[in-house]
Amino acid sequence: MSGDTPLGRRLARLIAEAGPITVADYMAHCLGDPEHGYYLAREPFGPGGDFVTAPEISQMFGELLGAWIAEAWHAAGRPAAVRLVEIGPGRGTLASDMLRTLRLVPELVEAATLHLVETSPRLRGLQAETLVTTPVAAHWHDRLDDVPAGFTLAVANEFFDALPVRQFVRTDAAWQERVVGLDADGRLAFGLGPGALATCELPPRLREAPAGSILEVSPASIAVMQTLAGRIARDGGAALVIDYGHAETGLGETLQAVARHAYTDPLAAPGEADLTAHVDFAALARAARSAGAVAHGPIGQGAFLSALGLAQRAARLSRDADAATRAAIAAAADRLASTDQMGTLFKVLAVTPQGAAPPRPFAV
Ligand code: SAH
Repeated sequence: MSGDTPLGRRLARLIAEAGPITVADYMAHCLGDPEHGYYLAREPFGPGGDFVTAPEISQMFGELLGAWIAEAWHAAGRPAAVRLVEIGPGRGTLASDMLRTLRLVPELVEAATLHLVETSPRLRGLQAETLVTTPVAAHWHDRLDDVPAGFTLAVANEFFDALPVRQFVRTDAAWQERVVGLDADGRLAFGLGPGALATCELPPRLREAPAGSILEVSPASIAVMQTLAGRIARDGGAALVIDYGHAETGLGETLQAVARHAYTDPLAAPGEADLTAHVDFAALARAARSAGAVAHGPIGQGAFLSALGLAQRAARLSRDADAATRAAIAAAADRLASTDQMGTLFKVLAVTPQGAAPPRPFAV
């Protein structure tokens, strides 16, 4: 039966007692519940999991990001103390691959401390195992606000898509908030709540829309981006945000549930399927600017990785490899960068302080 998981039964009781919850609260429960939440209880990554992320496809992804980070450090005048930050580090693969490249810049390794922002104790354990031989001291934090101040070089891959979105449905008179309630049989079901979005918060072209249109906003994402960009504006540094999403704020539902590499109904298996929404890069860029920083892009992941030397890195790794390994490297490069795979849907946004030169390859 739909929603019939331990978390689903608990949410149904909660809703029966206290009334419907917003889509954002539903998402936050499904992903972050301390007992049954998806990231706390399940192993989402890899072929046996529910989805595969770029760093799990190939070490080249993290190595190229490491090269970008090293360049940003040089461009900022090689500061003597660096907060190397990853938000939502998963299994720790990206941090580990980046640090392998950074070892080529010993002064940077010397200057750096590693700060991993991660809410799941289980994933913190995995990250510690992956990073056991890391050359820099690693620290874990629940929130980005807890990372000590200082010059910051930060990455977040497939993090923002996991932050809750609120959904609003256009009715004749207003943008009304979508909620999760119960149907006549006591099952989780979408409905409309009493709350509405103040139209003045919307870009003018979105204020009027056909009845039934859906608009998603992610206050949690805006808050994290403002914190990140505020740090960079104040203390210096650079950040890369990589995720799937759209370059312009638009209409349409993107909330989706994935379990074992297949899409399912977001209400079907609370806590047991991954729930994500596409990232609104225009909204993130606005948030970065409102915090006093400069936002660059987004550009496609394919264009970004190609400009950083994906083909050259693949050739280098293939040089002494056997035929099967060479084929696997070529397939991974294609998956990361080609337009029909991750090259266009996945996008890269960079954040720098005002007055800094635009980072490669965002320079015009
Ligand atoms: N960057 C990794 C993992 C992406 S999955 C990769 O590319 O493979 C999302 C990650 O964000 C997980 O590590 C998850 O536990 C973490 N996460 C989700 N919500 C979070 C939150 N609110 N605060 C901190 N970490 C969070």
